[in-house]
Amino acid sequence: MPYESVIGLEVHIQLSTATKIFCNCPAQFGAQPNTQVCPVCMGLPGALPVLNEKVIEFAISLALASNCRINPCFLFARKNYFYPDLPKGYQISQFDLPFCEQGHIGFETAAGLFTVAIRRIHMEEDAGKSVHAESYVAADETLIDLNRCGVPLLELVTEPDFRQPEQASAFLMYLRQLVRYLGICDGNMEEGSLRCDANVSLRPRGSAELGTKTELKNMNSFRHVERAIAFEIERQQNLLRRHEPVMQETLLWDAAHQVAQPMRSKEYSHDYRYFPEPDLTPGRVTPGQIDKVRARMPELPLAKKTRYIETLDLPAYDAAVLTDDIRIAEYFETLCRHVEDKKLASNWVMGEVLRALKEQDVEIDQLKMTPESLAGLLQQVEKGAISHTLAKKVFAESLATGTDPVVLMQQQGLSQVTDESALTDIIQDVLKQHPAELADYRAGKEKLFGFFVGQVMRASGGRADAKKVSELLRTRLSK
Ligand SMILES: [Zn+2]
Repeated sequence: MPYESVIGLEVHIQLSTATKIFCNCPAQFGAQPNTQVCPVCMGLPGALPVLNEKVIEFAISLALASNCRINPCFLFARKNYFYPDLPKGYQISQFDLPFCEQGHIGFETAAGLFTVAIRRIHMEEDAGKSVHAESYVAADETLIDLNRCGVPLLELVTEPDFRQPEQASAFLMYLRQLVRYLGICDGNMEEGSLRCDANVSLRPRGSAELGTKTELKNMNSFRHVERAIAFEIERQQNLLRRHEPVMQETLLWDAAHQVAQPMRSKEYSHDYRYFPEPDLTPGRVTPGQIDKVRARMPELPLAKKTRYIETLDLPAYDAAVLTDDIRIAEYFETLCRHVEDKKLASNWVMGEVLRALKEQDVEIDQLKMTPESLAGLLQQVEKGAISHTLAKKVFAESLATGTDPVVLMQQQGLSQVTDESALTDIIQDVLKQHPAELADYRAGKEKLFGFFVGQVMRASGGRADAKKVSELLRTRLSK
């Protein structure tokens, strides 16, 4: 195709602070409508905003994770527009001198590593919500819930570096993982904690100029983002092929019909009559504040995954599963401090631990098995004191009873039988009980070897070390 697509994203990240950005109202999702409001966030005359320090801390953490330059002094601005869910008639946002600028984020796509430039990240307050689809709203009514007014947001704006819809959705997935690692946002797209708009334009391949762009809104899942952008690229291609102009406009993604519908002609920044917020003094960020946040920064997801592959020698698949959620990664890392065989630790976390979380429908910090307790069990496996199969049974029982797995092993005498004389006795018995099979084996039916191993394992209640049994049996039968 003669055209190249140019895609940029604007992502609203709802911060998981306890309180709102400019007042002390709780910022939690899901409360009864209009119960988390006060004169400040409802915009009553005379009420004055005060900036929540936690928002600065969270913004610093995202700035560091995205390699942005933090402005030592930042400004708030009023973005003026009328909408029923915005009682003040303006949103406190940032325009000139945003919180931070000029960063970049590297992430993985199906086609390899990709780095997107970050234009800016700024702080702003959220607006309220129009409610239509609830049981308490009549068919011809729209109600307003102001609980979300003043909930803190960071808006991250990328440069238009993406060329494929898949790159944009892969970035969004990584960003979700990143903000969850940082502990600044729960990343829940369905509840609107992460909201993404995309700017899409086309230009002749090889051209440096940008074509007319449209803005896509209302994409509340990764799949929607990818589909909507692909749809919009095709729509613009068809227009350009017919020599029809692309209009600068805002389109709403209609997931049910898989089409983007025009919502309004695209507004320009001057439509909002931005002006400095007179009720808030210019904000300052000191090197001391930045250092404090830097000292607490976690290892970031891509770096962690790379380290698991390169230093711990784990397969890429394991590294991806283990680092997906930072709490799982931390559980795994604690386990690794006590367990020599990292692949063994990985198999157990990906297998037994994740399965238990799913079955019990709990988070990892609610699991009744600390990484230290599991490490104790895996040390027994590493020593050959218990077989994998028995260890899994012990794990399950320990989860159910809350008893430490190693204590359970001792209580039930589950240690593996590796003692040669004990095993020789069992082998002796088994051979005595199966004279016909023994005769067949001696006559050349070597397949029966497995049968004898099985019988010995059974006779030991599964506690015999299978490798040792094979060795001893082979010696015994070759006599
Ligand atoms: Zn309030």
